[in-house]
Amino acid sequence: MTEIPARVAERADAAFEKTVARLVEYLRIPAISCEPEHAEDVRKLAGQIRGDLEALGFEKARVLELEDALPSVAAERCHKPGAPTILIYGHLDLQPVAGEPWSTPPHEAVEREGRLFARGSADDMGGWVSHLAAIEAWLEEVGELPCNVKLFIEGEEEIGSPNLERFMDAYPDAFASDVMVLTDCENPSVDIPGLTISLRGLLELEVTCEALASDVHSGLWGNAVPDPQVALIKLIARLVDDDGRLRLGRQEVDPAWREASREVPLSDAIISEGARLVEGVKPLPPHERSMAEWMWRQPAMTILSTTMPAPGREKNAIRGKASAKLSFRVAPGQTPDELYALVEAELTRDAPGGVKVTLVRQTEAESWLYEPKGPAFPAADRAYEKAWGKPLLPIGVGGTIPFVAMFGRRFGDLPLILNGVMDPKTGAHGPDESMDLEVFRKAIRANVYLLDELARLDAG
Ligand SMILES: [Zn+2]
Repeated sequence: MTEIPARVAERADAAFEKTVARLVEYLRIPAISCEPEHAEDVRKLAGQIRGDLEALGFEKARVLELEDALPSVAAERCHKPGAPTILIYGHLDLQPVAGEPWSTPPHEAVEREGRLFARGSADDMGGWVSHLAAIEAWLEEVGELPCNVKLFIEGEEEIGSPNLERFMDAYPDAFASDVMVLTDCENPSVDIPGLTISLRGLLELEVTCEALASDVHSGLWGNAVPDPQVALIKLIARLVDDDGRLRLGRQEVDPAWREASREVPLSDAIISEGARLVEGVKPLPPHERSMAEWMWRQPAMTILSTTMPAPGREKNAIRGKASAKLSFRVAPGQTPDELYALVEAELTRDAPGGVKVTLVRQTEAESWLYEPKGPAFPAADRAYEKAWGKPLLPIGVGGTIPFVAMFGRRFGDLPLILNGVMDPKTGAHGPDESMDLEVFRKAIRANVYLLDELARLDAG
């Protein structure tokens, strides 16, 4: 006799086409949260999801509203007293598509070469719909879920979750749970499921070099007075090593993690294709670290803008002052304060040519470094072994995802399982976003097993 979870997984497989069809319906609605003219679409989709959740057997299915916020959807089915409660987070809103060169209309999902192309297919409609499909299969096959489940589907993730903490305050019951599965992240490849355990934070600042009250003739005054533009270049150059990587604030990483991270398929070919390197240019040398470590666990810098004259604005003058806006990706476990202190010390000592240097600190966001602890993680690994043939590989994200930091702050003591259906070819936030349908199928199966595995944990 087949074990119950395996039967449920088969049932989910059998319903796969139906699941894809439901997903395609959701993807038709342009629920673009950053464009006010689509606010009604966000509401429409939220209402449609709410109705579907109710029809599926969820209780308290409701569209949650707050003043000056787009709605979120919450629902629960908690029929197992004593069993753990799992919160599943996803988001229903979409990134915009305006001005992007899509091969097919972004809101009419199209299947091509095993992938489903549409805005939101993987980020994040496919993410939480993969849970819905697993839940539906449990209810159809067994008539009940093995544990208590709550869903929270946010409507403002793509604008940085500006009201998520207000939702957490206003509806604490919607979040009260023992394990959280946050489904809006990536897999390192279509064959390796990922567990996101770190995010880099953000620090932006403006550095200005000033020497002259106005621009002056470079033929008359060159070599006699300091040049703020040259000083600015010299200052920025202090921050980086010979490869051009930020040399300040480097982190020690766990050697075991470093070894494991070499498994992440980030070959030169994949990086060259993904980052669109031009012929003859190679990825930076990894030296003793892994590429994954450079991309996820070490701080990095880029120049956002400068006041350097653009072509067509040339003049033979020493400019009175020059500024640059610099953006730093703060390493996981590092605070913006710590990195700022290092950068400030470097930029304000021994000013080149004695120019006046000023710094203005701007936007910032905390990084996140999570240590998976407790039995929920081996349980998740067992579920993924059954569905993918592999446990979850701990990975990081080089960018900043505000909602994760909020969950981390509020619920960091709970097991937080960050997974998703994206893969390196997904192209989230860009044209031709797509989801690998085999990844979707494996995600659904993994979610079937995940509910069973988590059900066996002691609640609280
Ligand atoms: Zn997302």
